[in-house]
Amino acid sequence: MLGGICSGWRSFVADTAHRYKIGDIEVTVLTDGFRMVPVDDKYLINATPADLAGALKAAGLPTDKMKNTYLPIVLKTGGKTVLFDTGNGESQFAPSKGERGTLNQNLAAAGIDCNKIDVVVISHFHGDHVNGLLAADGKAAFPNAEIKVPEVEWKFWMDDGEMSRASPGRMSELFANNRRIFDALGRKVTPYAWDKEVMPGVTAVGTPGHSIGHTSYVVTSGGKTVYVQSDVCNNAAVFAPHPDWHGFFDQDPPKAAATRKRVYDMLVAEKLPVQAFHFPFPALARIEKAGQGYRVVGMNGL
Ligand SMILES: [Zn+2]
Repeated sequence: MLGGICSGWRSFVADTAHRYKIGDIEVTVLTDGFRMVPVDDKYLINATPADLAGALKAAGLPTDKMKNTYLPIVLKTGGKTVLFDTGNGESQFAPSKGERGTLNQNLAAAGIDCNKIDVVVISHFHGDHVNGLLAADGKAAFPNAEIKVPEVEWKFWMDDGEMSRASPGRMSELFANNRRIFDALGRKVTPYAWDKEVMPGVTAVGTPGHSIGHTSYVVTSGGKTVYVQSDVCNNAAVFAPHPDWHGFFDQDPPKAAATRKRVYDMLVAEKLPVQAFHFPFPALARIEKAGQGYRVVGMNGL
């Protein structure tokens, strides 16, 4: 990134994998590619396209399009190889002309065999996090992995009554997509609870709003802690300085904004680094208070 609030990150030898340690836990940040998102009147529901362009300009970024990145992580903890979120899926590689759906090839390049992923932990049931559970042939992309899902999210999206009441468009499409993905896997998942360890050294914490069961993780080992936020804050240049802005992708926008401020106030107070899913690669950062919102300062390691 050049200039602006995202100035802390530097380029790497390869920008498809980045490794660091949290005590004894090894973290590998991988990219599933990106999507260019237009700056239009659909992206924010309580601010104008001019407001949005202004935030991007203030961050030194182009004001006509935004780059949305997708960054799953692999943790090695307790002798297990654990993938957190799966990206858009291999089936997106060809239609996007190679822009996204690149996770599996980047896992291989990083020396991580899809057949040797022991556990996949899903943060929430949006397509850019769950679609990669299936390979291009529609079969399990991680055939030997236990799939752990937030119990709140699982209950909501698999509830036929909730599906029957879903509004047309995005919500109905999400229900259909989640049924497609998890039915292909025979609905073989392990629901996990908030405020408990989901893996050794990894506590799942509820951060609802973006989706009803949206989950983040506190990863602690050897006296170090990193907060894996998932989608608490989407675009760093947009929602960190303007935490009250509502994105079209939030299921409960006021709750998403309240969660964002609660989590970011905590990260500032506790001086905890954050690992994000949609920040610029490698998406490890510290959060500072700035004006009415926050500033995201990129880091390359702890
Ligand atoms: Zn997402």
